[in-house]
Amino acid sequence: MNIKALRDQFPIFTRARTSAHSFVYLDNAATTQKPRCVIDSISDFYSTSNANVHRGLYHAAEQATILYEASRAAVAQFINAEKASEIVFTKGATEAINLVANSWGKSQLKAGDVILLSQVEHHANLLPWLELARDKRLTIRYIPYDQTTKKLTIINLDLTDVKLLAVQHTSNVLGNVWDHDFANLIALIRAINHIGGAVLLDAAQSIAHLPIDVQDLDVDFLTFSGHKMYGPTGIGVLYAKSIRHDELQPYQVGGSMIYHVSYQAATWAAMPHLLEAGTPPISSAIGLHAAIDFMQKNISFSALAIHETMLCQQLITGLKKMPGMHLATTEEQSAHQHVVSFYHDAIHAHDFASFLGEQNIAVRAGNHCAQPLIDLLGVPALVRISVAAYTTTHDIDAALSALAAAINHLGSIQFSLS
Ligand code: PLP
Repeated sequence: MNIKALRDQFPIFTRARTSAHSFVYLDNAATTQKPRCVIDSISDFYSTSNANVHRGLYHAAEQATILYEASRAAVAQFINAEKASEIVFTKGATEAINLVANSWGKSQLKAGDVILLSQVEHHANLLPWLELARDKRLTIRYIPYDQTTKKLTIINLDLTDVKLLAVQHTSNVLGNVWDHDFANLIALIRAINHIGGAVLLDAAQSIAHLPIDVQDLDVDFLTFSGHKMYGPTGIGVLYAKSIRHDELQPYQVGGSMIYHVSYQAATWAAMPHLLEAGTPPISSAIGLHAAIDFMQKNISFSALAIHETMLCQQLITGLKKMPGMHLATTEEQSAHQHVVSFYHDAIHAHDFASFLGEQNIAVRAGNHCAQPLIDLLGVPALVRISVAAYTTTHDIDAALSALAAAINHLGSIQFSLS
């Protein structure tokens, strides 16, 4: 993997190089930057073939439909779905998870059924289930997070009455919370498969970092956002396995998702149109296709794991030298990581983030849409640095120097990294 050649494809970095301030972007878990091919694909679509999909009988409309459906096929191939009809385009991972809760959970779960979540979920994979549980009198059970091992504990889990397992593949706060090769996640999925439960895997954080094969994982639902994998905002994906299609009810009703409508009633179209009411995010879907092509041409997942783990280790080594600094994420060399979260005894996370922000170094601070986890950790907030394929050792050095300067400046502590 040629990091320099890959990075050169991102206008935001090449522009920054020629301006007075370089841009050190370390907030990739929030969203990734976009390569030129993704930006161009959207502009080309609007310049050459803009039209609505699945309706017009003129050339541009046919071309728009071809491009939109080609994106669906590319997504299916990217995650090894069996059929393109298993891919539903949504606004993002949040909408995809809400869609499962409303389209599948409302009709398939009944009072007393158990949903198994983990203690480290993003609000997007917590709140839809809390709402559904309240409406339908379901029980939520949590896989405990062990703060010593910094892993989820799956031994002795009570699986009685579990009808749905809904968990993150990797955490936006802690990275890999399963074991190194995800064997315990797979074991848990198999156990749920065995008792006839459904599995939803929230791949929002893993989709740009790990190869995903939905047939191999054997999940019923998989959700992710295009904007965290070098694609545009406004597009996400719900993978829904074919055998679940008969269990899905429309989430929204309107144009495009019907078979027949009268003044009294309607019948619905088959998947994936059943869950795509109204005009879909056509240009964003086309941009997502370009992002998948970009990843397939430029990124090898095995080389990426080595690159990102190396960057995280560089960061962890530097952070450990800083007085008063504590790591929330694992220090394990072998764990695949793309995020490192930390806090300081005396300096608030937001103060670090704004100190770095003044130097055009983008990191994130706060509760990271995981308030229950932050409460569990007993910290007011965390600083999070997250890397991507284009992140360099220079970026990490810049962040470490700025963090050291922040401690000297804000904490009135004198120390040096070397
Ligand atoms: N799940 C996880 C693990 C996330 O990190 C995020 C966003 O950060 C989401 C779900 C929601 O993604 P989006 O905001 O793109 O809908």
